[in-house]
Amino acid sequence: MMYFANARVFDGTGRAPFAGEVLVEGNRIAAVGEAGTLARRDAEVVDCGGATLMPGMVEAHAHLSWPSSVGRIFDAMVLPPEEHLLVTARNARVTLEAGFTSAYSAGSLGPRFEIALREEIDGGWLPGPRLRASSLERLPDGALGLKADESHARTPEALRAYVREMAQSGVDSIKFLLSSDDAFTPGGSQKLTYRDEEVAAIGDEARSRGVYLACHAQAAEAVKRAARHGFRIVYHCSHADEEALDLLEAKKDEIFVAPAIGLIYTRVHEAEKWGIKPGTQKDMGAPAQLERMQKLYPKMRKRGIRVLPGGDYGFPYNPIGTNARDLQWFVELLGYTPVEALVAATKLGGELMGRGDKLGQIKAGYLADLLVVDGDPTRDVRILQDSSRLALIMKDGKVHKRARVLTEPERAPA
Ligand SMILES: [Zn+2]
Repeated sequence: MMYFANARVFDGTGRAPFAGEVLVEGNRIAAVGEAGTLARRDAEVVDCGGATLMPGMVEAHAHLSWPSSVGRIFDAMVLPPEEHLLVTARNARVTLEAGFTSAYSAGSLGPRFEIALREEIDGGWLPGPRLRASSLERLPDGALGLKADESHARTPEALRAYVREMAQSGVDSIKFLLSSDDAFTPGGSQKLTYRDEEVAAIGDEARSRGVYLACHAQAAEAVKRAARHGFRIVYHCSHADEEALDLLEAKKDEIFVAPAIGLIYTRVHEAEKWGIKPGTQKDMGAPAQLERMQKLYPKMRKRGIRVLPGGDYGFPYNPIGTNARDLQWFVELLGYTPVEALVAATKLGGELMGRGDKLGQIKAGYLADLLVVDGDPTRDVRILQDSSRLALIMKDGKVHKRARVLTEPERAPA
């Protein structure tokens, strides 16, 4: 048992932080109370010293197999499989150490990387976030110059078979690219990839197999198809029109959206070192996309659509481990308050993971995924980017990192 004393508790719901204490028993939060109200029993006491205790964060657009992470940058996106799997496992640890105790994958670069990784993490053999494991990202045959390939065949029946095959392989989520992107071909973000009857077949089959669907969707019609056909999370959405917003709002209890703004921000402002110059074709349309997002996402916020941080981390100029920057962009660029950004990263993240009744809040009975943060992220979310301020990281009741938060005997004067 572990007893967190002297904490400012941010419980993930949006309630103002309060002076409180939390008791963890096994992998669960056993009790939450105002300061001085809980029995310590025989628990180990962690004196938070007034630091903030908050739920672990959820990365809503994770690519753990995208190679680059803080401290280790790769130019290539694809490595030999042996290296690639090890790098993926390392990136899981880096993600956890950035304060993200859950990750919803937006696509893997190896068909079984994330399935294997999820088993290792869940078994407690490798450190990493709870993972919703994904398939590869799928495009239809002929899209983006793909050569004819049976695995990319495009008929409703072929897509049903693909969904079945993926569900059987053990992924939690299947990722489709429902539109192209300016990053792939100029003007691509307005081009659709699949036909509507194909997306309908995908949605229908996924529903009956109990597997989640995620999509890359820039074009308005791609967003609408995702909403109509039961996709769980829609990424980017930068060309969403009013009709698309109406559809997302009508389904707001079922669907999630993530702009993946981290990648777009760094592509515009920090990618020059990698040969991506703003105002040239190499910027992949990112400046215009960032501008569209800054107009669009404040509208989504007003409509109560569940928009989550998660930023396509893993590129050399947007490495894994800097994931908490997304919260800063929510506040500075998309019109969210710090508390709203934090709720999106915690409570709404738990809902995205499919475990809203157990994950993403500090509440009795919830899973003990907790951060002790030196400072007040409800005033300034940027402090979450500083790993030296993440004084303690707990996942599933196990302490992964503990620094500078002392137990009572350690704190006592000699
Ligand atoms: Zn992505």
